Amino acid sequence: MSERHIYFEKMKALARQKRELYNVHTAALGLREVRKIYSAESIRIDYYRLPYKIKALYMCSDRDYSVAIQKNLPEEPKLFALIHELKHHYCDQDDINKGKINCGDYNQNELIEIGAEVFAAEFLYPENEFSQDIQYSRISAWTPDEIVIFKKHCKAKVSYQFICKRLERLGLISRNQFKDIQFQKLEYQIFGLPYHLRHRFAS
Ligand SMILES: [Zn+2]
Repeated sequence: MSERHIYFEKMKALARQKRELYNVHTAALGLREVRKIYSAESIRIDYYRLPYKIKALYMCSDRDYSVAIQKNLPEEPKLFALIHELKHHYCDQDDINKGKINCGDYNQNELIEIGAEVFAAEFLYPENEFSQDIQYSRISAWTPDEIVIFKKHCKAKVSYQFICKRLERLGLISRNQFKDIQFQKLEYQIFGLPYHLRHRFAS
C-alpha cells in the first residue's frame, strides 16, 4: 500500500470514528446536524461572499476556530464543504500557515485537500453503506436514468457528482463516462419540475 493510500484509509477511519462519536445516521445527516457538531467543536460558521472558486475556508488561531463559507451554496455542496473543513480542524491545524488553508488550492496542498474530500465522502455516506445500497437497488446496467432514480431514493444528501465518483470507484461505470450529462435537467424530465420552479418555465 502506498503512503497516500494509507493516509486516505486513515482519513476514512477517522470519519467513521467521528460519526460514531456524534451518533451520525446517514439518512438523518443534514445542515442542522453539522451545525450541532460545529458547535460541539467550538467552530464558528461565518457566511461570506468568497471568491467564486472557493467554497469554504478553515481558520484557527489561539483556540479560536472558524469556517468561512460561501453564502449562496446549495444544500448538498454546503454540507460537503462543511464536513471537508471539519477534517482540516481535526488534522491540519499544525500545517495551517498564517492561520488559514485556502481550500481548493490543490496545487499547494494536494494531499491535505484530497484527504479532506475523502474524509467528507466517508462521513456523509460511508463506502460500505453505499455498496450495500447499490446492491439493494438491483440495478445492473448504470445509465444516466438509473442514476437519477437511485439519487431520488438515496438516503444520503449527496450530489450526482458524488454518486458518479463512487460508481467509478466500484468499477460500475468508467471514468468520466457521464461527465457531460446534465443530471438536474434529466431529473426534471423524469420526475417533473418541483412546484416552486414551475412558474419560471410556464408559457
Ligand atoms: Zn480544504
